[in-house]
Amino acid sequence: MSRGHFYARLEESDWKFVRRVASMQSFDAAIVKAPYLADYPESDSRHGQPTDRLTEALGERGFSWALDPATALFGHPRAAEWASPRARSCPMAAALPLPWDPGLIIGDDEAALELLSRAEAIQRNATAFSVPYLEVRKPGEGHLEANCSLIGMGAELAGDRRVLAYLQTLRGELLRGRAIEAARRMIAAGAQTIAIRIRSLRPESLEDIVAYLELVAFIEDRGVRAVADSVGLLGPTLVAGGADAFSSGARYFQAVPKTLLSRWQEPDHHHEEDAEDRGGGRPILYQVPGTLIETPHQELDDSVAACPVEGCKASAPGAGRRERRDHNLHDFKRRGREAAALGYGYADVLRTLPGDRPAVWARALDQVAERRRAV
Ligand SMILES: [Zn+2]
Repeated sequence: MSRGHFYARLEESDWKFVRRVASMQSFDAAIVKAPYLADYPESDSRHGQPTDRLTEALGERGFSWALDPATALFGHPRAAEWASPRARSCPMAAALPLPWDPGLIIGDDEAALELLSRAEAIQRNATAFSVPYLEVRKPGEGHLEANCSLIGMGAELAGDRRVLAYLQTLRGELLRGRAIEAARRMIAAGAQTIAIRIRSLRPESLEDIVAYLELVAFIEDRGVRAVADSVGLLGPTLVAGGADAFSSGARYFQAVPKTLLSRWQEPDHHHEEDAEDRGGGRPILYQVPGTLIETPHQELDDSVAACPVEGCKASAPGAGRRERRDHNLHDFKRRGREAAALGYGYADVLRTLPGDRPAVWARALDQVAERRRAV
């Protein structure tokens, strides 16, 4: 049965939030993007500032964390020109010439080991060992083989930590069943936890959600943990279908970015994960408990359901961004627990919620549950 864990996808500046507000009811553990741990380049106004404040704060507050190596972009054909100076300052970026060549990772053990040891050095305090990865694309391009080769070698470096492998791929690969084939090979290579990242997923599409649920069930049936990464309010549905955990941020990281890499000089508004690096970013909405609705805090009034989490200050007078951030996270955590306890029966909860998406997600759970009963 799913543990229904919720992993907070924290933003770079969240160390203040973690230190002052986050509690054990906010989230179970955190996922930290590798570029956040890299030195700020000289062109950055934060040059010289410490880069371990987030992981330090997590450690101080007793949270465990895992790394997202976030290396898929280095396989983009234009990585050398388009990657931001910050992304390139990540020690892993320079382990191999840009763009990363899957053939080099497969064929040159020394290059692969250099990459893995750089990855290891930035996640010594993490709970799992996260393996650097490329985006899995069409068969024959070598990306999956490169990932599997790194997983196999990484298993030796992991020691007693779990081997956490990322399966980042495109919606089309999910729908064609090739994501399942990729998961099968990653498990054979030694993956013990698979963080799933589906680019261009359509959460309103029944076909997409059924395929995602089948991928999750395939992984869990093999005794490997599936983590639905950056899925926002879809997360509890995937947990109901067996995912061990899901991750989301309080405002960003609620979907995998549509673009693998956008030219950094021309900010791409779809690429929201990096928006906070440019300061500001969009406001944090309030997740209305018991619905799949988010609302601006200005619209909070008595008609909006109160949060059942004890001590929640999101709707108290004077509540600010930190209180709303904490609320959205503990709201995810609470929903994940509920979905894990109900399993496929979570469809009944979804059917009571307003809007089109919950109805689609309920049908997807029903379909997959029925197929599995028939086997
Ligand atoms: Zn709350």
